Amino acid sequence: MTENIGEAIDFISDFVNLNYGKAQTQTPEHSIDRQIKLSSSSSYELVKKAAEAFTKKGGQIFLDARVEHILQDENGKVTGVVAEGRKRTLTVHADAITLSTGGYGANLNMRGKKAKG
Ligand SMILES: Cc1cc2nc3c(=O)[nH]c(=O)nc-3n(C[C@H](O)[C@H](O)[C@H](O)COP(=O)(O)OP(=O)(O)OC[C@H]3O[C@@H](n4cnc5c(N)ncnc54)[C@H](O)[C@@H]3O)c2cc1C
Repeated sequence: MTENIGEAIDFISDFVNLNYGKAQTQTPEHSIDRQIKLSSSSSYELVKKAAEAFTKKGGQIFLDARVEHILQDENGKVTGVVAEGRKRTLTVHADAITLSTGGYGANLNMRGKKAKG
């Protein structure tokens, strides 16, 4: 995706029906204007529309479920995940898995000893 970010943005904008425009403010250190924003100026619009588009295509969303294990077959191919919900353990098998757990800024161990803030 890092090598195809333009196409990725176009795909997600079309899939989710997002209408980005030029942001009013731009970052001074950038040589060209490169910040965009939704007309609502709200990330809620993105989350709401993305959830709607995903479920409309048959996707299921599980909230309050922390992925604890990634399942692999005997060749190491990822085949699913196991998540712990509040009331039950959830096992999901899939042809493809996307890890989208954000950066590691919230993990004190991964940030190292110097980054305490
Ligand atoms: C204070 C602040 C201000 C920002 N302002 C802007 C801005 O104005 N414009 C902008 O473009 N960007 C901004 N950013 C950056 C932007 O928020 C991030 O780049 C973006 O949210 C990253 O999205 P993500 O989906 O990769 O990860 P995240 O938004 O971090 O989402 C990851 C999700 O995965 C979940 N998760 C983690 N581990 C598991 C697990 N094991 N099982 C299940 N779920 C798990 C987390 O709970 C989280 O909900 C800002 C960031 C911060 C911190």
